[in-house]
Amino acid sequence: MAPFPQHLLDGYRTFTTQRLPTEQSRYRELSERGQSPAVMVIGCCDSRVSPEVIFDAGPGELFVVRNVANLVPVYQPDSGTHGVSAALEYAVNVLKVKHIVVLGHAQCGGIRAFIDKIQPLSPGDFIGKWMQMFVKPGEVVEQREHETMQDFTTRIEKAAVLRSLENLMTFPFVSAPVDAGALLLHGAYFGVAEGSLFVLDKASKEFRSVRDAQAGE
Ligand SMILES: [Zn+2]
Repeated sequence: MAPFPQHLLDGYRTFTTQRLPTEQSRYRELSERGQSPAVMVIGCCDSRVSPEVIFDAGPGELFVVRNVANLVPVYQPDSGTHGVSAALEYAVNVLKVKHIVVLGHAQCGGIRAFIDKIQPLSPGDFIGKWMQMFVKPGEVVEQREHETMQDFTTRIEKAAVLRSLENLMTFPFVSAPVDAGALLLHGAYFGVAEGSLFVLDKASKEFRSVRDAQAGE
C-alpha cells in the first residue's frame, strides 16, 4: 500500500501539538455526551470552501454535509438511497438543529460544468446527472442577452442556493418545524478571492455583504 501522505501526517502532528491541547476537554465532553450542534451547513465539496474554517467553528459546532454545488434534492421517499436526505433527517429529527445554512460560493466547478456542458464533464457523466437536480422539469437555464459569462455563473451559483432552500421545504420534517418557528433556514455565498461572505436577505432574495453590514454597525 502506498505510504500515507506525509503532509497529512505533518498536519496531524500540528493538530496534536497546537490545537488538541486547547480543545482536549471539549473533545472528551463531546465523546461522553454526544454531539448537539445547533447548526447544519450544506456546502460544496470545493477545497476552498470549508465551513469550519469560514465560520471559525470548533469541534461539535457544525453538522456539515458537502456535495457538488451544495445541492439539496426534493423530498423523494422512494426505494433509492439519498445521502443528503439522510443527513438532513438526522440533523433535524435526531440532533434537532436550530439552523440550516446553505452555503454557495464563487467559481463553483459544479455550476461551471452544468452551464458549460463541455469536456471533461458532459451531461452524461455523474456530475451532469447530479446537477440535473438543480433544474425543475421543463426549466431552461440560459445566459441572458448582454450578460457576461462571469455574471451568468454568479447568478446560477446564487440560484443554486435559492433552489436548495426551496427544496428543503419539500421535506415534511423540515417544513413543519420551519412553519412552527423552531427551525430557521439561511442562504449564504462565499467569495473565494476576497474571503467575503454574503448572506441572503429572504425578502429581496438578494445576497448582502456581511462586511458592509458590520462596518455600518
Ligand atoms: Zn462548488
